[in-house]
Amino acid sequence: MKLFEYHRAVSAEDAVRLVNDRPEVRFLAGGTNLLDLMKDGIRDASDLVDLTRAGMTEIGKSKDGLSIGALVTNADTANHPLVRSGYPLLSRAILAGATMQIRNMATNGGNILQRTRCPYYYDMAMPCNKRKPGSGCGALEGLNRTHAIFGAGDSCVAVHPSDMAVALAALDATVTVLASDGQARSIPFAEFHRLPGENPEQDNNLRKGELIVSIELPPPVFTKHVYYLKVRDRTSYAFALVSVAVAMELDGDVIKAARVAMGGVAHKPWLATRAQDVLRGNPVTPELFEKAAAAEMEGARPLAHNAYKVELGRRAIVRALREAAAVA
Ligand SMILES: Cc1cc2nc3c(=O)[nH]c(=O)nc-3n(C[C@H](O)[C@H](O)[C@H](O)COP(=O)(O)OP(=O)(O)OC[C@H]3O[C@@H](n4cnc5c(N)ncnc54)[C@H](O)[C@@H]3O)c2cc1C
Repeated sequence: MKLFEYHRAVSAEDAVRLVNDRPEVRFLAGGTNLLDLMKDGIRDASDLVDLTRAGMTEIGKSKDGLSIGALVTNADTANHPLVRSGYPLLSRAILAGATMQIRNMATNGGNILQRTRCPYYYDMAMPCNKRKPGSGCGALEGLNRTHAIFGAGDSCVAVHPSDMAVALAALDATVTVLASDGQARSIPFAEFHRLPGENPEQDNNLRKGELIVSIELPPPVFTKHVYYLKVRDRTSYAFALVSVAVAMELDGDVIKAARVAMGGVAHKPWLATRAQDVLRGNPVTPELFEKAAAAEMEGARPLAHNAYKVELGRRAIVRALREAAAVA
């Protein structure tokens, strides 16, 4: 392990101030991803800024919806009464992730910034453009059973692993960040993560040194007809092969609003806009759900070993829609 300087921040402002001109600063939250990567030599840091005493631990009503602190743990977020009642989809997605022990440590900011679980990223003997830009992609011609079917290119076929992020995409969340010059800005969730393009080493559109302060949720519209379906190799300790988050607002049996997002299929939480377009304004029927799923999966581009995800994704969308519509 390489030597690094350790700093403990006492507030969000203090945390970004500590970034200053230091070369490779990383914020430390729950540490459940970052410390593993540092121990394995996959990520370096000249300085660690510990956020655990820096506040950002509140969940409370905002002007329009709900504000969730970046340092609130995944467990506390999923179990918070305002999240459970107003945003049950978020609760369900978080509880589908990791284990109780990890959720007790993991924070919201850290969760959406966790790095891919692509095995080639973790194998220092293999090329990986995400770990070492320009070195190539081991997964492209290698074992790519768990990899992307949407939005990938020749540079990277890794998927984003977070369950929570899939629900946040479906719920149209916003991420509030603070920069080292004291400026705050809001990033719509759909623009927070990025597709690999020519720079797969960048998972998101945060600028250097920016700190996530909170996640903002719009008014609690989707309280009833929601579902998070996670398909994985094992029931615990496994990331999604494919997941689907559905949030619908029904007027009688007509779909007034529909939000569908997928996990395990792209470099970022994948907003299923084609499916949404098919659903919106139409009465709930099994045929409509089949049509929406087929429309979305038409855009899939599978690799040598993951064509199964196209059919799995189709079925998962249909099932998640059915479950969401059926909730009383
Ligand atoms: C065995 C295992 C199984 C898992 N299974 C799942 C699963 O099924 N589903 C799932 O979604 N996750 C899963 N996880 C991942 C886990 O949820 C993440 O490791 C965790 O959410 C990361 O949060 P953290 O607070 O520990 O982040 P850290 O490890 O502290 O940080 C992660 C990254 O975020 C940055 N960061 C943290 N907070 C901020 C902030 N406020 N502003 C800016 N940057 C910040 C850090 O610098 C670092 O780069 C699993 C993890 C393990 C170890």
